Amino acid sequence: MTDVVTQLLLKHLPTSSKKNRNGFKFNCPMCIKQGEARNDTKMRGGLKIEPLGFVYNCFNCKFSTGYTEGNRPNKKCLDFLKTLGADISEIPIEIRFGNNTVRKRIIPEVPSAYPIVKLPQDSKPIIDLIQSGFCDPEFNKVVEYISSEVPFLLLDKQVMWSPDTRLQMNKRFILPFYWNGKVVGWTSRYYEKKPPVGIAKYMMERPENYIYNMDMLNDKADTVVAVEGPTDAKAIGGVALMTNTMNEVEAEILIKSRKKVIIIPDMENTGLRLVQDAGKYGFSVSLPKWPKDIKDCAQSVKECGRLYTLYTIYNSIYTGTSIELETRFKTANIMRT
Ligand SMILES: [Zn+2]
Repeated sequence: MTDVVTQLLLKHLPTSSKKNRNGFKFNCPMCIKQGEARNDTKMRGGLKIEPLGFVYNCFNCKFSTGYTEGNRPNKKCLDFLKTLGADISEIPIEIRFGNNTVRKRIIPEVPSAYPIVKLPQDSKPIIDLIQSGFCDPEFNKVVEYISSEVPFLLLDKQVMWSPDTRLQMNKRFILPFYWNGKVVGWTSRYYEKKPPVGIAKYMMERPENYIYNMDMLNDKADTVVAVEGPTDAKAIGGVALMTNTMNEVEAEILIKSRKKVIIIPDMENTGLRLVQDAGKYGFSVSLPKWPKDIKDCAQSVKECGRLYTLYTIYNSIYTGTSIELETRFKTANIMRT
């Protein structure tokens, strides 16, 4: 198994590279940077793959660099990787900076509070409206949508409806964002699987660096599951990052919770970013072996139930570097039937 630095390099070799006995040869990407008048077109860059790393030499510009596992990659090596188009943040921090500097990582400041906001006009829990016998054609359609697509939300007091017609709010269900029990934002989902052209599936007011359900991070459980969407978080009792990536601050909020963090990406290509981020911050990922047509927790709970979903989540937990997790994610997605 090659080390992560060499793996990253191999992933970004020019497509015109030729394999030879020792490794590869290709047009040197460094020549111009090294002061040569024109780009190499004669494949004068030679890459030798070694048991514990690689050695690179260009016979034109004389640029040379290399890497040996167990060390931190030097500036020339990182420069070479970047010039080839590699994202060096994929190299785990402890390797990139060496063990001694890990503690010196600049820890971002996490928000100490979020501004309080108002929910859309006259928002009320859907379950309360049903129980009071409330009737409205659009409201009924919202209830129908929830019953068929996200049935586990129907009895949930946090799921709301507003009669406001602006932004088609009356054609949506609303999920408030709470922080310390106060409303600091909300998201809303249109009541058709595919909304008409020009109408947004989701409308939301989201504070910066907010994680959905983040009050959970203060509870006594030692593990927390982090997913992409709020409905997925509702389905299994977790927090949601609300996109397929996480920034430094959001990662720090999760780290500060001192819980074991398990990230569940959507099981489709877009989930890859979150898998890479998990590796970068040392979080675990779960890659559940769901049937092929199921891509997230909400869908799995709806189709197969909560017990099955939790069982599959806890049976497919992995830790590793971004690159290791990426490989697992790709394999897991291919293996699904
Ligand atoms: Zn060169």
